[in-house]
Amino acid sequence: LSADRALDVRGDFPAIPEGWAYLDSAATAQKPRVVVDAITRAYGETYATVHRGVYQRSADMTLAYEAARKRVAGFIGAASADEVVFVRGATEGINLVAECWAGKQLRKGDRILLSTLEHHSNIVPWQLVAERVGAAIDVVPLTGDGRIDLDAMAAMLTPAHKLVALAHVSNVLGSVLDARRATELAHGVGAKLLLDGCQAVPRMAVNVADLGCDFYVFSGHKLYGPTGIGVLWGRGDLLEAMPPYQGGGSMIDRVSFARTTYAPPPARFEAGTPHIVGVVGLHAAIDYVEGVGLERIHAHEAALVREAREAMAGLNSVRVFGPEESAGILSFAVEGVHPHDIATILDEGQVAIRAGHHCAQPLMDALGVPATARASFGVYSGPADVAALIKGIERVTRIFG
Ligand code: PMP
Repeated sequence: LSADRALDVRGDFPAIPEGWAYLDSAATAQKPRVVVDAITRAYGETYATVHRGVYQRSADMTLAYEAARKRVAGFIGAASADEVVFVRGATEGINLVAECWAGKQLRKGDRILLSTLEHHSNIVPWQLVAERVGAAIDVVPLTGDGRIDLDAMAAMLTPAHKLVALAHVSNVLGSVLDARRATELAHGVGAKLLLDGCQAVPRMAVNVADLGCDFYVFSGHKLYGPTGIGVLWGRGDLLEAMPPYQGGGSMIDRVSFARTTYAPPPARFEAGTPHIVGVVGLHAAIDYVEGVGLERIHAHEAALVREAREAMAGLNSVRVFGPEESAGILSFAVEGVHPHDIATILDEGQVAIRAGHHCAQPLMDALGVPATARASFGVYSGPADVAALIKGIERVTRIFG
């Protein structure tokens, strides 16, 4: 086992006991102590509201809140911190774009392009807005090995397509999108591109300027940060032209009963007291992953998936889904065994995986299965976790064989 395959950071994660193989990081990642400490400090020592107080404590917390916004901007290559909107998570980010961009820009007869492997949160918000404005949704199929088929997408795109929304990394198959090509194709017909970066941001270096996309969303809790905080990045000119999402405090310029005017982005989209401590925790999480290095994390997780795939290929009744090369996520099935039974038996052996449709029912339909078992890796995963997984699957095949 090469030294770098075990990143040797497990000791940073207080909630992962010795001997427990946590293989559900795609659902949510465990937290390093530095994130837990940042949250504890923010509530226990430095806590106050942001953006309002004239007293020193609040001014300091405001600085911390806005420093986190700058940190996020640097982390994803945004041109300005003003392009970074704090939201509850990817789900809210996508709903915000659907409501405030698509809801304003789309007309009857316009079309939205999604793919077969999207998470429900990158499907349903578009269905809601499409129904409201009279737009239609088209779906890009997958290649045989489970990647979004960009050749098919090229053939499908028309000038009626105003928006393309795709997962940067699939939460079920780990497939990595060629995001630059997707951008070129979308922009070629004048469509905007939103990337759902939930599974990409924890697993690879992301730079929105290089990718050329128009909107990018991700959730803090999958990036080793707190729940309840996420990021919507949007190109400045697009955010500028969007109406508010919710009304309330902090998002206004001037309020009167005759006429209310709104703050510029990002404040326009952050009504109400924000998740102050979530933002502080997210900052610590970004410092943490950048400290380890996203190139290393990517290579590490890809190697673990490769190892797991190879071992599963040697087991007769096991089927693996998705492409050879994937970003830290592997779905599989055992012939004749429901994925929930696989997960239950694995849990008896201290291996935590996910079983179900993974909020991607159209993908399950395309794969021809009701559900899959999914192992997903994180920065703290190692060869011992793969070994425990394979041992557990062998036990499943013995019990059901
Ligand atoms: N998109 C993808 C690809 C995801 O994996 C998830 C979370 N499973 C989401 C969107 C939604 O993220 P959240 O529930 O944190 O808003």
